[in-house]
Amino acid sequence: MNRALARWLIRVVIGAVSLNVGLPCAAQAVSTLDKIKERGYIIAGSKEDCAPFGFRDKTGDIVGFDVDICRYIANKLGVELKVVPVTSAIRVTAVQNETIDISAATITHTKSRDKVIDFSITYFLDGQKFLVKKGSGIRSYRDLAGKRICTVRATTSERRAKELQPQAKVISFNSYRECFVALKNGVVDAFTTDSTILLGFKASEPDPENYEIVGKFLSEEPYGLGLLQNDSKWRDFVNNCLIEMWNKGEWLKIYNKWFGPGQKYEYSLEELDFKMSTWPLR
Ligand code: GLU
Repeated sequence: MNRALARWLIRVVIGAVSLNVGLPCAAQAVSTLDKIKERGYIIAGSKEDCAPFGFRDKTGDIVGFDVDICRYIANKLGVELKVVPVTSAIRVTAVQNETIDISAATITHTKSRDKVIDFSITYFLDGQKFLVKKGSGIRSYRDLAGKRICTVRATTSERRAKELQPQAKVISFNSYRECFVALKNGVVDAFTTDSTILLGFKASEPDPENYEIVGKFLSEEPYGLGLLQNDSKWRDFVNNCLIEMWNKGEWLKIYNKWFGPGQKYEYSLEELDFKMSTWPLR
């Protein structure tokens, strides 16, 4: 019998004896927090094509705002951080089947997703907009009747684009990169998702002035970290890290690193208009 299995069995038996109940009721799953401590590293799922949240740097590593949030949590726990790429379509199931410990992948905390995984408190807030080529004449979703819009599968952006403009053809890709290429090549007239993801694509181009992010915010997209359902030990730890990060100014440091004045993805705090909902840690 391997050590992990033996330890698990001992825990189950102790749990059953202390609760004076039969084994099936007493069998408690081991918290992700304990699994991470034993393993020595957190496995985080992040985007690889959503600058500045999660994207590949020159060396091929996945870096970004979401990655730095996870790095803080890993440092707090005294473990390493391993980042694996996830797409919008797999980031929830990867948490469910425990392939990853945490999904830090621009996920909007929605009621339907919350039925199958848990979420941390909100750590970022965005809203949906459109990215178009300069001079297209498109100013809002109203101008997109009869036109083609691209977005990504299994996202809030996909659902909302269809609701807002039923007369447009919505083409859904697996990745944001493919979607942006479709806009560049004129396969679609507009690309829609959260405004800061659009900003990431625009700012990464050698000629960002050739693109425009247009219209008002069409939704609220509160980002949460996706965590295993019913694992409150891990969820509490993550939430306490986020609150501490906010209170100590560490969240702001990470924000400024990616979105701050003079940065490639500059986005003002006034525009972001976000304040983390913290609670007293004592
Ligand atoms: N945040 C939105 C969502 O969770 C859209 C962007 C994304 O794919 O992350 O569906």
